[in-house]
Amino acid sequence: MNTERLVEIQNKMLQKIIEYSFTSVPFYKDIWKDVVNKKAIKSSKIIDLLPIICRKDIFLNKNNMISKHFDKGKLICRKTSGTLGRTLKIFYDIPSIEYFNAELLRDFLDKGYRTWEKIVFFSPDKFKKKGIFEVIEFTRGYFIPEFWSDEVKIKKIENINPQIVVGDLSTIINICFSNHEPEVKPRFITVYGDLLTESVRKFLEEVFNTTIYQRYSSAEILSMAWECKEKNMHYNIDIAYLEFLKNKLGYNVIATNFINRAMPLIRYDLGDIVIPSDDICSCGRGLPLIKSIEGRANDFIVLPNGKILSPKKVQRYLESLIGSGKEFRIVQKTKYNIVLYLKNCLDEPFLQIMENKMKKLFGNFVNVKIILKNKFPKNIKMMKYRTVTSKVKINL
Ligand SMILES: [Zn+2]
Repeated sequence: MNTERLVEIQNKMLQKIIEYSFTSVPFYKDIWKDVVNKKAIKSSKIIDLLPIICRKDIFLNKNNMISKHFDKGKLICRKTSGTLGRTLKIFYDIPSIEYFNAELLRDFLDKGYRTWEKIVFFSPDKFKKKGIFEVIEFTRGYFIPEFWSDEVKIKKIENINPQIVVGDLSTIINICFSNHEPEVKPRFITVYGDLLTESVRKFLEEVFNTTIYQRYSSAEILSMAWECKEKNMHYNIDIAYLEFLKNKLGYNVIATNFINRAMPLIRYDLGDIVIPSDDICSCGRGLPLIKSIEGRANDFIVLPNGKILSPKKVQRYLESLIGSGKEFRIVQKTKYNIVLYLKNCLDEPFLQIMENKMKKLFGNFVNVKIILKNKFPKNIKMMKYRTVTSKVKINL
């Protein structure tokens, strides 16, 4: 379908979810009351007038964000990773999960998926209560919980011997570095979560001797974009309306999900910085492209001279020094203090080189402390989806 037609459909779906949210979700009824009325809500440009909401709004209004047409106890709950200290619960209705299944199927079909093929999903859900990953339905889908040890995960995946593997990037990398490299030969692996740099992609492709594709998703919106066979990232304009608001970091993503009616998120600030693209993909799809995901807006590093570095840029630089797939965390504590955590011991001369290279990246006014660890401390380990984090606020 061409882009114009898709945009038409998108606008209709957007309009519907706004009207629905106004009449069915107490939170929106309240915060929109000064902006819209029953007549104005039908205007096609109404979205621009609505306030942008953020994590804090969800946290403070958790009971008012569920549509009056749904019973919270019967919904599927997905928790955000809680890296900002507070875990958010997002509730989904069953039809929205079915839509998500269909979208995932579109992604797999693009790569020649056949129904007899086995798919392993590494699942963040703990199987106690019904989670998103257990409601994904594929003829031969298998779920391996992320919290199992790497050894047990590898044993299980070898037994299944899947053609397709889906998991967050850190889980896939950890499996590579386990004592026993998994003897599986998937046709392709789809990763999400951490920022995927080209060097890590290449590294994983060599280890698994397969193709690595990336998806852009979040607990709040589920599926926003996915890579086609050409490795171009297509944005799902039939699931969400994404606004790309330019600031000095790049383009801030404001998302509206029009599939989930249980807990609609309208103009939700995801806190992600991306670079959209006007290019057209050679695969022929009308879904627009996103050129790059640069990281979370909170995690851009701001240097004393005012220069700003994206998490992806810092990540790429570190990978070029220590090798792809090696675990590290960078935490900017203050404008003048950055800590680099490196896993596994490195020798003294290398440390000296690292210190000099860090100065090259961050400048002479920044003090970089390098901490070597065999295991990362718990609070650092918790920053699962964020290799680079910053506690310094940037005024946008
Ligand atoms: Zn494409």
